[in-house]
Amino acid sequence: MNYHIWTEGCQMNVADSQRVGSALEHLGYSQTENVELADVIVMNTCVVRQSAEDKATGRLTSLRPLKQKNPNLIINLMGCLVGVKGHDRLKKAFPFVDVFSPPSDPGPLISHLTQGEVRSFEDAETTRRFLAMDEELVLPVSEQGKLVSAYIPIVYGCSHACTYCIIPYKRGIERSRPVGDIISEVRSLASQGVVEITLLGQIVDRYGKDIVDGPNLAQLLKLTAEVPGIQRVRFLTSHPNYFGEELIDAIANTPKVMPHIELPIQAGDDKVLENMRRGYTQQNYRDIVAKIREKIPHCSIATDIIVGFPGETHEQFMQTYQVLEDLRLDVAHLARYSTRIGTVADRKMEDDVSDEDKRERFRILEDQQERIVAEINAKLLGQTVEVLFEEKVKGRWRGRTPTNKLVFVESDENLRGQIRAVQVTWTGPWSMQATLPAKAPATLIAQEIL
Ligand code: SAH
Repeated sequence: MNYHIWTEGCQMNVADSQRVGSALEHLGYSQTENVELADVIVMNTCVVRQSAEDKATGRLTSLRPLKQKNPNLIINLMGCLVGVKGHDRLKKAFPFVDVFSPPSDPGPLISHLTQGEVRSFEDAETTRRFLAMDEELVLPVSEQGKLVSAYIPIVYGCSHACTYCIIPYKRGIERSRPVGDIISEVRSLASQGVVEITLLGQIVDRYGKDIVDGPNLAQLLKLTAEVPGIQRVRFLTSHPNYFGEELIDAIANTPKVMPHIELPIQAGDDKVLENMRRGYTQQNYRDIVAKIREKIPHCSIATDIIVGFPGETHEQFMQTYQVLEDLRLDVAHLARYSTRIGTVADRKMEDDVSDEDKRERFRILEDQQERIVAEINAKLLGQTVEVLFEEKVKGRWRGRTPTNKLVFVESDENLRGQIRAVQVTWTGPWSMQATLPAKAPATLIAQEIL
């Protein structure tokens, strides 16, 4: 029996898919890349922009002939297209879908496959909790292959309600997971060879704010870094309103917490930020970046930007350009504003920036960022950096520096899961190439130590 998973969207969806895959493997299914060979197809969807939603519905429609050919095929629609508020409309539009699952919830699929019965899960308690759709349940995820790096959701949902954003409506209110569950998941993953953990939340720095007597994100990062076997800890996505000094200190003072921060600004103009209901000014953002750089000088910072938000004038857009020019961030994830039905921006504002202008603003920032990042990365040429290698792609090993920069190395050694010092031989805006130093003879190493 085979399963096929199609995943679209954020890291949270990737984590959710890993969990579904793991659960299916407990039930005896094997993963296949070929959708035609699958007995179960999971479509894990994203609706953050219209383009993502169109992709999901297009892909789903393309499955209809497969289902007609093989009525026993089970199609599971999961994620933000389904959401947490019921799916009657979807059921009518896609009658060939067998199971609908809200984001982060493999429960409906597993119940459907087992008809509520215990099957080949290893222990009955796991199965019971799983079928009860117990969100706190920890399933090891590295069954699907040798995972080096794993995502762990620590806060589900979001309660912030930025005016453009559909996520709170689709993923429900913010819920932090208990620290015990998170740490036991980290331990389980570490025992299976995972060396890097990325803690996830829509607003990850709000972790713990809804739990009495629990740790905050700064404390959780330290606890995660202390788990034996874990070499690197990352976290995303942060919101500027909650990015305080304690968190900056925790990153600065915990060597295993990587110096890389995903901190969306969304826009560089105060009026636009207010209309987005982000809760900070561009100066607040600049102050946080200055504080990060003061305490963690080598830290890389990524941001998200939306161009063409309702009412954004060219002058206001140029404020965003100026902020990026001044701050010189390592990554900017760019998006053109896309109206999402039901959001405040949809109900109260007019999508009045033309598509042409949105595309133009996008292109201006894309060019700017390519230039800035190429300059930042060029400084690494000839330097030695530490890379955690994950997999070999087309003959080259792929890995990341502590600052999350992508590095490719040619080597016949098996580097999977290893952290190695490499020398950078080429840099571009989106990746670098490096070489492994030849292994020094033992005597030489001894001399160097002396
Ligand atoms: N919770 C995270 C990530 C949200 S989704 C955060 O608060 O930043 C990822 C990115 O998609 C957002 O940061 C935003 O830049 C973009 N985005 C969200 N809604 C959008 C919309 N309606 N149109 C265009 N981009 C959007």
